[in-house]
Amino acid sequence: MALFQMGDEVLVPAPYWVSYPEQIGLAEATPVLVHAREQNGFKLTAAELDAAVTPRTKAVILNYPCNPTGACYTRAELAELAEVCLARGLWVVSDEIYEKLIYDGRSFTSIAALGEQIKARTVVVNGLSKSYSMTGWRVGYAAGPREIIDAMGKIQSHSTSNATSIAQWAGVEALRSAGADVVRMVAEFERRRDQILAGLRALPGVTCSRPEGAFYAFPNVGAYFGRRAGDRVIDTALDLAAYLLEEARVAVVPGEAFGAPANIRLSYAAPTEQIAEGMERMAGALKKLA
Ligand SMILES: *Cc1c(COP(=O)(O)O)cnc(C)c1O
Repeated sequence: MALFQMGDEVLVPAPYWVSYPEQIGLAEATPVLVHAREQNGFKLTAAELDAAVTPRTKAVILNYPCNPTGACYTRAELAELAEVCLARGLWVVSDEIYEKLIYDGRSFTSIAALGEQIKARTVVVNGLSKSYSMTGWRVGYAAGPREIIDAMGKIQSHSTSNATSIAQWAGVEALRSAGADVVRMVAEFERRRDQILAGLRALPGVTCSRPEGAFYAFPNVGAYFGRRAGDRVIDTALDLAAYLLEEARVAVVPGEAFGAPANIRLSYAAPTEQIAEGMERMAGALKKLA
């Protein structure tokens, strides 16, 4: 709301987190989806970003590691995107909520860290929900140019007012002393990532890019569209998600919600036994589709 208004276009790389188009709509601006390709690991290229810019484009929303794909941009990829943003005069809203949940020894780079020029055009948003498992405490934060943050403070003071002081102090404690817990949690998530990825890739017809961060896998299940179980026809990811829920009691989120209708999202923020059981049930249900 501090950055966008009616007539502004805001680029949203797809697959995207469900809330971005709605949040842009709340500011009366127009979300413009830019489809990142599965072959590119669901990462938007600088050329794709550049091609989507119009005279009305105000900003691009980046989310890395990504919910729902787990994709995370490298420093070199971010540098190319930053170059386009600066050349085209775009703002960047950089959602870094999964910055600490990153695997395979990768290191995280914020686009705002690439130089003074891009830093001056970036608003970083982050929070304690994911890295510190504090989803219910409702503490988030933003960093950016002073005039933008000042404007955000004014809007917030008339809407939600504040995060409770109790939750803020709990957040301070998490940031100060939970580092070792986060390291342990990330190691466990990495094992679960390997487990769910192996399970998904063993399913006939399913492809899945390797999640580099966050705690979601986003397999392509398009091979099952057009198949049936009895008189039930599976034509969409929504159909498949409903089938898996009813037939296997496995909850997945259909890709339509993220702008990727051939995929489904699975969360691996669950114990390994549950993941194993879920994968087994899914395999059984998919086998019944002819
Ligand atoms: C979970 C999440 C957030 C933050 O959600 P809160 O629960 O409101 O802290 C922000 N962005 C993405 C992509 C998320 O997945």
